[in-house]
Amino acid sequence: MTDRISENGQIRRIREMEQLLNQVLAWVNESENLLGKNAGIDRAVRALEDYYGSSLWKADFEADEAGLLPADLARGVLSEDGIDHALQDFRDLKERFAQEICREDYELKSARFLAAEILRRLVKNGDTVIDATMGNGHDTLFLCSLVGESGRVYAFDIQRDAVEATRSRLTAAGMADRAELLCIGHEKMAGNVPGPVKAVVFNLGWLPGGDHQITTRTETTLQAVRQALELLIPGGMLVVCVYPGHKEGTAELAAMDRFFSTLPCRQWNVLKHSFSNAGPGTPVCFAVQRMKTPVRSSSRQAGQSPR
Ligand code: SAM
Repeated sequence: MTDRISENGQIRRIREMEQLLNQVLAWVNESENLLGKNAGIDRAVRALEDYYGSSLWKADFEADEAGLLPADLARGVLSEDGIDHALQDFRDLKERFAQEICREDYELKSARFLAAEILRRLVKNGDTVIDATMGNGHDTLFLCSLVGESGRVYAFDIQRDAVEATRSRLTAAGMADRAELLCIGHEKMAGNVPGPVKAVVFNLGWLPGGDHQITTRTETTLQAVRQALELLIPGGMLVVCVYPGHKEGTAELAAMDRFFSTLPCRQWNVLKHSFSNAGPGTPVCFAVQRMKTPVRSSSRQAGQSPR
């Protein structure tokens, strides 16, 4: 059994990934001495993130669960708790360095980064929020960490695999009791969330590592987005990341653009963020905020900037 595993490179892969994990852990532990010293750390983190989100990690994890790996093989990288925490610690510290130390090196950030940044600043302990596209649960876990023990996250996905992957992730992080995981289409959101919410998050597309034919669809996405806006409290935010690198994503982007541009500017602020020069498939983040105090008709003229 061990031979078959060695042949397909599984052991080598786990060793390599274990090394990368140890690199990240060492970096986190010695964060004070970090700046300028660990040029390879971003590469290590990216490789770990790709591995952790891939079917290869799942295969390695299952081999471990089935007792197929040699007893002396170090495999902290196969513990969801270990790898998840290391990556989250890395992101948190990097963010702190960026904010507190590297102010002068400010760089423009991607759509995904902006989405996380908005949520990090907006969502507080005790809030109720929605993850409209659960997927592998990265966003659900992130939201659970923001709402704390007294908050609530309602998460939707149509695929049972996504719900189970998310449940494992939350359980490993000790946050499963903060979330309601619903194997239901987000177009039925209104009937499944009992009250108003602070934020709703959509990360459109297909399940990473899953069937690319099962993807979010323009018609149901639009239905869900309309319901999400109805559920938002004043000051609450809808965050939608769209990926126009495939046919359905292109249609979703056009539909979102059309729909958001019709929202009355006295009640809604709509921000659209993407790199204009990064090619046709570049992700786009829409952030739509219900104003706390709607603007009276006389105080905002057509063409006048609200900000
Ligand atoms: N947020 C996820 C994460 O952090 O891993 C990634 C989401 S993934 C890009 C998009 C997900 O939307 C897929 O898992 C897919 O099954 C799901 N999806 C597709 N149609 C849906 C629908 N009508 N309602 C809810 N989820 C849907």
